[in-house]
Amino acid sequence: MIKSDKKIIIAIDGYSSSGKSTLAKEIAKILNYKYIDSGAMYRAVTLFALRNNLIQNHEVNEKKLHELIDKIHINFKLNPENKRQETYLNNENVEEEIRKMEVSNNVSFISKIGFVRKKMVRFQQEMGSEKGIVMDGRDIGTVVFPNAELKIFMNAKAEVRAERRYLELKENNVEVSFEEILENVKKRDHIDETRDESPLKRAHDSVELDNSNLNRQEQLDWIIGLVKERIN
Ligand code: C5P
Repeated sequence: MIKSDKKIIIAIDGYSSSGKSTLAKEIAKILNYKYIDSGAMYRAVTLFALRNNLIQNHEVNEKKLHELIDKIHINFKLNPENKRQETYLNNENVEEEIRKMEVSNNVSFISKIGFVRKKMVRFQQEMGSEKGIVMDGRDIGTVVFPNAELKIFMNAKAEVRAERRYLELKENNVEVSFEEILENVKKRDHIDETRDESPLKRAHDSVELDNSNLNRQEQLDWIIGLVKERIN
């Protein structure tokens, strides 16, 4: 564990399945910081919309979602068994459900809606008000915490990212083909990059990491070096 009286905010943005959450969780553990997966929040809203039939053929019933948005309560709780932060939607553990392909295939249509982003960003900022937090997503360094002390922008080739997601889902017994995942990864990148509301883009003061050829330990050593520069 690294000890310092100075607490900082670490923002980790980047493309889908670029390894953001793995790195974010590991560095949060080393620093004894909170880790927040902001993508899980957009996934939870998507699950809510799907369950309420608010998405048909990739079209979101925005009017109805707007009416219901205040009925959506998302929070995270630590599972003492596996020591993982799990996502709750209106007090129901939805951690597994939000990782399924139906949610992945629809989440970009929800995350491009302005009023959804506004609500999520407000909640994310509240969680970071005392610093000592690592948050990963798409707009954390640009919109949520523009003053974060450390901003990382992660990337890797689409095929490498799809392979990682494929192995992850297989491990969790989700039936899916590699081709389907590659298509989903590329499609989400495109929608995330070209949307009007907070598109995925590198913050000018972020440090870029292409981890196509780096293992976990190499990435961790790299980020630890950057953290030390900022807390000492
Ligand atoms: O990180 P993950 O792939 O789980 O995120 C799911 C989706 O949520 C992304 O494809 C993106 O559309 C959206 N997202 C976002 N802003 C964030 C985090 C995720 O728009 N900060």
